[in-house]
Amino acid sequence: MNSMHLPVHQLRADLDAKKYSAQELASSYMKRIHETQKTLNAFITVLSDEEVGKRAAYADELMRVGKTSFLTGIPYAAKDIFLTRGIRTTAASKILKEYVATYDGTAIEKSADAVLLGKANLDEFAMGSSNEYSAFGPVKNPYSLEHVPGGSSGGSAVAVASQQAAFAFGTDTGGSIRLPAGFSSVVGFKPTYGRISRYGVIAMDSSLDTVGFLTQDVRDSAMLLEALAGRDERDSTTIDRPVEKYSEGMEDGVAGMRIGIPKEYFEVDGVQEPVRRSIEDIRALLESLGATVQEVSLPHTRYAMAAYYILTPSEVSSNLAKFDGIRYGTRPLNAKNLDEIYLETRENGFGKEAKRRIMLGAFTLSSNHIDSYYNKALKVRRLAAQDFENVFKEVDMIVCPTTPTVPFKLGERMTDPVSMYVADSLTIPTSLAGVPALSLPVASHNNLPIGAQCIARLFDERTLFRVARTIERELQWTKPRLAI
Ligand code: GLN
Repeated sequence: MNSMHLPVHQLRADLDAKKYSAQELASSYMKRIHETQKTLNAFITVLSDEEVGKRAAYADELMRVGKTSFLTGIPYAAKDIFLTRGIRTTAASKILKEYVATYDGTAIEKSADAVLLGKANLDEFAMGSSNEYSAFGPVKNPYSLEHVPGGSSGGSAVAVASQQAAFAFGTDTGGSIRLPAGFSSVVGFKPTYGRISRYGVIAMDSSLDTVGFLTQDVRDSAMLLEALAGRDERDSTTIDRPVEKYSEGMEDGVAGMRIGIPKEYFEVDGVQEPVRRSIEDIRALLESLGATVQEVSLPHTRYAMAAYYILTPSEVSSNLAKFDGIRYGTRPLNAKNLDEIYLETRENGFGKEAKRRIMLGAFTLSSNHIDSYYNKALKVRRLAAQDFENVFKEVDMIVCPTTPTVPFKLGERMTDPVSMYVADSLTIPTSLAGVPALSLPVASHNNLPIGAQCIARLFDERTLFRVARTIERELQWTKPRLAI
């Protein structure tokens, strides 16, 4: 079967037309996973062919009796930070390497008719930008095996890019969906904070974490949002607002729209020429289609990263406290007392980046320093949000690069954490403001992918999809070739 490059909405149409069954579809994806897993390492856990077959047979049965939803029978991957009943959830950490949750989170529950194929690799506890901070080994970029796929949802992005899953769930706290989407030439969408429930997703930075998707195209993102958005009593940060028909009006074009390009996004460290050029091409395209494109200013961009790397370690140090060998985490057998249990569990269980953030966070929250770090960072966050509020008085949408560079080489940034952090310098401000954003593939340079980011007002996902879809439909560019 050769349908694995197709978006979900097309697979849906094919399944409904009985071109193939859910079981046939699932087994062709499984075959592809078996071919590529050794090389790309996109998954931490792959379900057995038998288990996947059972899930697909259930979907076939639902379709047979006419109980079909958008996701029935669609093969997918979930970042291994989404709790799945009976299937281990590791967060790519040694500390959870044998942890099996007793319940499904909301996103998994809402996808019960879809066919889960496996749990995708990530940076440990979703902290990282390259998917190299995984206790289960790095993920490779499917267009060039010496390069990183971006992180932290690297496995999710690669699973979709290399046709091992039709879509994947990811999480985005400071860019973890958009960055790997950009580096892997797929669409990556993060909704407005609070739009999709995070119940049953292991928390990293609770005030910024969002659940989103990696997909083949923009329409899939919109349709998945229709299926997953909504208030959830089990996640008090979800907003009680009607779920819209996000895919409606997507094809209506951009004539008469006002679109902003933030000048500060070209002033951050190391914006590469091909990245700059890709935005110029989009600007020319949007103007030719009748939009007004203007330069806008988000003056606090340069402080956003510093604020984020205070806020995130602070919340991480608190969220990861429960991995202590008593509540969660593999307990050492030879420990003599409670202190030893804590120490040995955490010393052996956490990787370098997790430890770095726990230590930083314990410091920034300590009573002597909280005002000069954490509380100050909260104020910067407010200012960054205000930047967006001001700009959205002038324009309907923002278009900018997803990340300053094309994918970097494996190992290249591992010795210098700050060089890793700057990969998110253009995705973080959006996260601080809580606004929705999407990265879509728009160019390639030496067969390395380049993504562009669209950003909209709070809860204005419809405009986001409409502009992104227009670019996707109209832009002429050369797709990178898969190396495997
Ligand atoms: N790379 C960023 C970090 O390490 C973003 C992570 C994320 O969005 N989960 O914090």
